Amino acid sequence: MMNITIIGSGYVGLTTGACFAEIGHHVICVDNDEAKIAKLLSGSIPIYEPGLEEMVTNNVSSGRLKFTTDTGEGVDFADVVFIAVPTPPQPDGSVDLRFIEKVAREIAAVLKDYKVIVDKSTVPVKTGEKVAETIRRYATPGIEFDVVSNPEFLREGCAVEDLMKPDRIVVGTNSDRALALMHKIYEPFVAPVLATDINSAELIKHAANSFLALKISYINAVAAVCDASGADVEKVAEGIGTDKRIGRAFLNAGLGYGGSCFPKDIAAFIAISEDLGIPFDLLKEVQDINARQLKNFIKKIQDALWVLQEKKIAVWGLSFKPDTDDVRCSVAIDLVDTLVKEGAHVTAYDPKAMEKVQELDVSGKITLAPSPLEAVDGAEALVIATEWPEFAAVDFEEVRKRMITPLIFDGRNLLDPERMTTLGFQYTGIGRGLHSSAPAAAAVETAAPRSKTPA
Ligand code: NAD
Repeated sequence: MMNITIIGSGYVGLTTGACFAEIGHHVICVDNDEAKIAKLLSGSIPIYEPGLEEMVTNNVSSGRLKFTTDTGEGVDFADVVFIAVPTPPQPDGSVDLRFIEKVAREIAAVLKDYKVIVDKSTVPVKTGEKVAETIRRYATPGIEFDVVSNPEFLREGCAVEDLMKPDRIVVGTNSDRALALMHKIYEPFVAPVLATDINSAELIKHAANSFLALKISYINAVAAVCDASGADVEKVAEGIGTDKRIGRAFLNAGLGYGGSCFPKDIAAFIAISEDLGIPFDLLKEVQDINARQLKNFIKKIQDALWVLQEKKIAVWGLSFKPDTDDVRCSVAIDLVDTLVKEGAHVTAYDPKAMEKVQELDVSGKITLAPSPLEAVDGAEALVIATEWPEFAAVDFEEVRKRMITPLIFDGRNLLDPERMTTLGFQYTGIGRGLHSSAPAAAAVETAAPRSKTPA
């Protein structure tokens, strides 16, 4: 088993570190955020990820997983040093590589003997070359090292599972010595290792995320045609997705992609390509379709409620996807923000993201409810912004009783339109047309008002 250090203990670094420790490696997770390391040292996990807390606790107890703010301690300890720091977007879409460059200098300053430096952050093609150049410039002359690109493909919400059972492991390096060490690290994982040059490995990550975003925008464009023609996008997605050449994954019509990766990675790939003199207009259309999704959805809510000012709207779901507390670039947060700007009174509920939402500006302008049912008390519309499976299991008869007007706007096509109309709701999804058992006005009259006091 090997000694591994991970620099950057966020969603990727902490989960990767815990999984490496789980399979028997000895791991130190480094972070320069002292509060985060203090939290981890006190046994508390700063993020929510299914299965992570137990894995971290067990491996800390077994002595295989440690935390520090000291990069020098981490680098001294390790055979292989992973970099998992942020690569945020700049205003023009290109990647801000300051964190990567800083870590490269920090590693160089404490490098005493041969190490493999592995970039796990998502970086533009040719970054590995720059990292090697930087370490060479700042390290004591003559010290040997190799740089490897090992992009990460985990999905938040199932990161532990993705790391423990990856589809493939991409290792980009031109060094046989480094490749042998990488094989040793990943040997316990039953997954094919795809060995490439560094540039190809870096490009694989941006090309993969862009393709997944393209699938999402494609089905969302199809959903607009479904809305206009009366077809049902769920049936269409099933019909095309069962073709093995296409696949059903990422053909879910909805409010579009968000989160800390897709928007920035697509913008980055456009900027990288343009920088290389290759315009990638296809991806600009992917972005445009994505931006239209939320606008068109808000318009559906406006069409039904006419004026949003002073309307009480319940929103279920705030994280950018289910099974995570991550609200970075969440479309649900953009939606809430737009509703608040239009003057609506928003009461929101999320199973895991409430704490993270309280760190955002918008939290002061909305009410956070302790449960989905309390969120809909006196509401004139219910909006589903994130497809947490538990929302589908809520007692909708009770929901209907608590709402003033039984209007549901399902931004993730989570609910069954027929069931909702049977229960007396007017249901609007994405690419599924309008479902109503009775005209909206009649539905409004029959709804049992509970409280008209806006939150
Ligand atoms: P994050 O913000 O959750 O974590 C990054 C951590 O790095 C932070 O805790 C920060 O304090 C720390 N850090 C920054 N500079 C440091 C330094 N000099 N020394 C020590 N620690 C430092 O970010 P993340 O979501 O884990 O993403 C990390 C990278 O992985 C990004 O490039 C991202 O694009 C990529 N990625 C993310 C995901 C995902 O789902 N989150 C999936 C695949 C790839």
